[in-house]
Amino acid sequence: MGGTGHMVVRLEPGLHLIATPIGAARDITLRALDILASADVLAAEDTRTLRHLMEIHGIPLGNRPLVAYHDHNGAQAGPRLLAALAEGKSVAYASEAGTPLVSDPGYQLARDAIAHGLTVRAAPGPSAALAALMVSGLPSDRFLFVGFPPSSGGARQSFLEGIARADATVILYESPKRIHRLLDELGQFVEGTRKMTLCRELTKRFEENLHGTLQDLIGMLADREVKGELVLLVDRAPAQVAGEDEIDLALRQALKAHRVKEAAAMIAGAFGVPKRDVYQRALTLSEHMAGEADAAGDGKAGL
Ligand code: SAM
Repeated sequence: MGGTGHMVVRLEPGLHLIATPIGAARDITLRALDILASADVLAAEDTRTLRHLMEIHGIPLGNRPLVAYHDHNGAQAGPRLLAALAEGKSVAYASEAGTPLVSDPGYQLARDAIAHGLTVRAAPGPSAALAALMVSGLPSDRFLFVGFPPSSGGARQSFLEGIARADATVILYESPKRIHRLLDELGQFVEGTRKMTLCRELTKRFEENLHGTLQDLIGMLADREVKGELVLLVDRAPAQVAGEDEIDLALRQALKAHRVKEAAAMIAGAFGVPKRDVYQRALTLSEHMAGEADAAGDGKAGL
């Protein structure tokens, strides 16, 4: 038994991806501590942060290697870690904070390990995205994590359009220096009444969660220098209320190529309206269309 209750265990060979705290140091699972105490090789985005975490929890590194693996050295460190895995070693990997792979390194390493037939396991735990969703008050049945916004150009524009259109609660990361610009620019794509939550410093001493519409948030942050780490959540796009004319037009098009039942199902799905109602309308329209075709045919015959 180790300092804070961790155990040295017989760890399955393979890559063990470990979530670490996003603020409160005690937000580490007992299983993550066991893995850190037991892995043959330790790897981290930031080796100093991992050393510090292990010190807090009384886990000795001993003579085990601690390898840096981050965005800038993956080409060198990746093969080294894969070689250790191929020898049957257990490798624990932690990113700087939160869950590896979530706007953090680890994806390529996990993908390569899987491609080589090696085992990949997760020790799940904190992630700012899910912590923010929990406190946002926004619907949690469907959500879309989009990471950090691209800084400029067409990529940024389509990113913002995507947020505006999404049929899910959108979760994104942004730096405090850029949050004002992000909210202003979102205003070009999203109604000012769209609900949002801005989470700051989750799980930390000065945690603050601001809830309101886009306009409210812009107002709350006006003239304020924002500090700390941020997650922004944006409510889903309001349901489009399609007009009858719009549905009729789409149905007429669909009926040219499909049977009534298929056309009704397609259009009901596309507009998000009940199939039964659209089916009734499709029947009526198809009769009209048959009548129109007959009339046109009669007309031609009479010429
Ligand atoms: N892998 C991490 C995770 O699972 O949350 C995210 C890493 S990403 C490089 C760092 C960003 O996550 C920060 O810029 C911020 O947007 C968000 N973040 C991390 N910790 C946070 C916290 N305690 N409160 C609010 N946002 C946080």
